[in-house]
Amino acid sequence: MAEKSIETLSGSILAGLSCACPRCGQGKLFHGFLTLRPRCDVCGLDYGFADAGDGPAVFIMFLAGFIVVGAALVTEVMYHPPYWVHAALWLPLILIVTLGPLRPMKGLMIALQYHHKAEEVRFGGDEP
Ligand SMILES: [Zn+2]
Repeated sequence: MAEKSIETLSGSILAGLSCACPRCGQGKLFHGFLTLRPRCDVCGLDYGFADAGDGPAVFIMFLAGFIVVGAALVTEVMYHPPYWVHAALWLPLILIVTLGPLRPMKGLMIALQYHHKAEEVRFGGDEP
């Protein structure tokens, strides 16, 4: 376990976008499409801390909505195509701009969570 750990924010971002372990940048993060592995195969980091929640989906919904709705509006105003053309254009584009970046965005969220040591607030203990 003498692997070099990632120290910089840019290194963490690159590891996250490439769906790699946020500590070593070499082990795989996902088992399936979005299912996390229990731990890193290379450095042994336990991925139990990782909880991206709805964060990746929210960012992608905003970005995809901006792209698809903007493109559909521009196309409608400029060309007035029939509805089947809209369906043929925008349904595949919706799948591409939502499912495509979902995995790297989830990896990015987990990498940033690890880099900034973000975790849930815990109450109790010896706080006043
Ligand atoms: Zn690792």
